[in-house]
Amino acid sequence: MSAWEENVRKVTPYTPGEQPREKDVIKLNTNENPYPPSPLVVRAMQEMNTEQFRLYPDPTIGDLVREIACYYGLDEEEVFVGVGSDDVLAMSFLTFFNSGRPVLFPDITYSFYDVWAELFRIPYRQIPLDENFEVLKNDYFTENGGIVLANPNAPTGVNMALSDIEEILKKNPDVVVIVDEAYVDFGGHSVLPLIHTYENLLVVQTFSKSRSMAGIRIGFAMGNRKLIRYLLDVKYSFNSYTMNRPAILAGVAAMRDREYFEQTTRQIIETREWTKKELKNLGFHFSDSMTNFIFASHKDCPAQELFEVLKKNKIYVRFFNKPRISNYLRITIGTREEMEKLVSFISEYLIKREAQ
Ligand SMILES: *Cc1c(COP(=O)(O)O)cnc(C)c1O
Repeated sequence: MSAWEENVRKVTPYTPGEQPREKDVIKLNTNENPYPPSPLVVRAMQEMNTEQFRLYPDPTIGDLVREIACYYGLDEEEVFVGVGSDDVLAMSFLTFFNSGRPVLFPDITYSFYDVWAELFRIPYRQIPLDENFEVLKNDYFTENGGIVLANPNAPTGVNMALSDIEEILKKNPDVVVIVDEAYVDFGGHSVLPLIHTYENLLVVQTFSKSRSMAGIRIGFAMGNRKLIRYLLDVKYSFNSYTMNRPAILAGVAAMRDREYFEQTTRQIIETREWTKKELKNLGFHFSDSMTNFIFASHKDCPAQELFEVLKKNKIYVRFFNKPRISNYLRITIGTREEMEKLVSFISEYLIKREAQ
């Protein structure tokens, strides 16, 4: 190893889901929304004044912060916006997890949490979920340097009772508790109302899933103004202009189209419930997902085998070769048509497999 290499910050990066280049694939592997963004977003992009690209964007992201605050009935000082919730979460780890005590999160959860902890050299402890992939709240009533919970959780889809989160908040007044609500719009319950009771609660959401804008990169955090102030201080010490002009315009337009948002999320929920029934009939089991994906395991057919045969046939789902979950597939809810194709493919495959 060269001498300089000894001083390199060495990290094992997060592995994002595949973005296949081939056309006409059914893409159910990264929890994207199958519907296009709101027509208001399309129009905002068409009417965009590109002459303004020579100017820096608004470092406060004021227009979008105001729009989000208005939508959720908050003050502007209670909202922080970043480049996808990955950026918001990374910034939050950097800002709030700064003690020698371990930050706590489940063993099975969004696999970026341990990557950020490693990157920022934050001590952490991964707490096993129970055999039904449920969070055991008592495990979090112990000394720690902060807590991160995805609710509903990913990739399991399991929803936690709000009363359990509230108990965790009550028992941990001395640390920041981050609740990652990337999937909450698909039927979960948000802890957002609790930010006025618990000044250490930070709620993080994203435009990537329920608002069909994964490609634009917008995420946001909501919490007590003191929390938001600290986040802003770190952001301005790092990169003042995080959000580009088109992203701000697109975000404002998306936020204004409440009706389209509600209609498309309702459609995805309906398709999810249909898919649950079909998968159950095919011999899959899974916990009752409140997200835009189903985390399913088949009674006979190994997950990896199904993953590979699906991929060969241009249907992409997500497979995690990790302890405890290596016999599960995470299947994003696409359009009804896409899910029908998935179900009939699996059905035929299992029949052929049985016959052999
Ligand atoms: C998708 C996802 C994110 C990140 O989404 P962004 O595209 O960065 O906004 C964060 N947390 C969880 C649990 C996710 O599934």
